[in-house]
Amino acid sequence: MSKELLGWIETELARLEQAGLRRRRRVRQGPQGPVVVLDGRELINFGSNDYLGLAADERLKAAAAAALQEGWGAGASPLVCGYSSLHQQLEKRLAEFEGTEAALVFGSGFAANIGTIAALVGPGDVVYMDAKNHASLWDGARLSRADVRVYGHGDYRELARLLERAGRYRRRLIVTDSVFSMDGDLAPLPELVELAYRYDAMLLVDEAHATGVFGTLGRGVAEHLGVEKEIPIRIGTLSKALGSVGGFVVGADRLIDWLVQRARPYVFSTAPPAAMAAAALAALEIVQAEPVRRRRLLESAEYVRSELRGQGWRLGPSASQIIPVLLGEPATALEVSAALVHRGLFVPPIRPPAVPEGQCCVRISLCASHSPRMVENLLEAFANLSKKFL
Ligand SMILES: *Cc1c(COP(=O)(O)O)cnc(C)c1O
Repeated sequence: MSKELLGWIETELARLEQAGLRRRRRVRQGPQGPVVVLDGRELINFGSNDYLGLAADERLKAAAAAALQEGWGAGASPLVCGYSSLHQQLEKRLAEFEGTEAALVFGSGFAANIGTIAALVGPGDVVYMDAKNHASLWDGARLSRADVRVYGHGDYRELARLLERAGRYRRRLIVTDSVFSMDGDLAPLPELVELAYRYDAMLLVDEAHATGVFGTLGRGVAEHLGVEKEIPIRIGTLSKALGSVGGFVVGADRLIDWLVQRARPYVFSTAPPAAMAAAALAALEIVQAEPVRRRRLLESAEYVRSELRGQGWRLGPSASQIIPVLLGEPATALEVSAALVHRGLFVPPIRPPAVPEGQCCVRISLCASHSPRMVENLLEAFANLSKKFL
C-alpha cells in the first residue's frame, strides 16, 4: 500500500487559489497572431511576445516545411551528431546579424541563460544581478554556485558600491536584462559598461525582448544605445520577435568555444530540430528587409503609453512595447483582465511570482501586427474601465 506523500500539494494549491495566485492555462485554437481564439473565444491578442507578427508568417512556415523534408528530430546532442548544417548556417547568420565573431544556438533562451552563466562563473566568483532580472538569469546564477549580489533595479550607483568591495573574488560577472520583461523599461547599459570596465567585470546582457525590436538594425538595446562593442556576452531569443523557438549567445570565438565545452544544457541536451533553424533564418531575413515593422511597433508603443497615461493609468517606467498597467492586488488585476476579455481583448494579468507582492498589473504586449483599429479598441476599453478602477 502506498503512503499519501503528495497530499501537501492539495493544501498548497488551495492556498494559491485563496490568494488569487493559482494559474490556469488557456487553450489556444489555431495560430498565434494579433487575433487569437482562446478557450473558444476570439480575442484581440495583447498577450504574446510575437512582437513582429512572424510566428505564423508564411515565409517561416515554408522554410520550416522545406527543412522537414530532411527529417524532424535532431537525434543527439550537438556534440555527438545532432548539429546539422542548418544549425551551423543559423549560427553564422546570427553572428553576421549581430556583428560578432561567433554565435551559439540553444534549445531555448532559458537554456542559453542558465548554461552560459554557469559556464562563466563558479565557486569563488561573484555574480551581480539586477533585482528585476528574468527567472532564467536567477536560476543560472544559483546553479553556478558563485556568490550572488543583488543591486536595486537599474541602480548602477549601488552596483558601483558593491563592485568597490569585490576584490577577493576570482571573476566578476554583471548580469542584466536589456528590456525588463515585466516593467518594459531599459537597463542603463552605458553605465554598466563603464562599471564593468572600471572593475574588470564581465558583462552579460539578455536582449530577449529587444532582439528584432530595438536598434536601427534590430540587434537590440545595446545597438540602440551604441554600446554593442563593449558588451562581451550578449544573449537573445529566437522565440519572441523572431517568431521561432530557441535561444542564442553571441560574442567572441573563444567565448563560444568555451560554451561548447562547458554549457551543460548545450552539451547534455538534444539539439533542437533543424527546422527551427530554417524558420529562424527566414525570420532574420525579414528583420533585415522590413525595418518598418520595428519602427511601427515602437511608434505605436509610444502612442499607447502617452494615451494611457493621459487617461490616468500608472504605467511605471515602461519605454518599450511591453506596457504594464499597474493595479496592485491580484484580485484587481484579475478583474481588469476579465473586464477586457468581456470587451474582446486579451491582456494577461501578471501576479507574483512574476512580480513582487502588491505590484500586480495587466501587461500589454504590443505587436507590429496590431492594426490601428485594434489599438484604438484597446484604448477605448481602458478609457471605459478608468471610471471604475481609477
Ligand atoms: C523569455 C525570456 C527568456 C527565455 O527565452 P525563451 O526562448 O522563451 O526560453 C530569457 N530571458 C528573458 C529576459 C526573457 O524574457
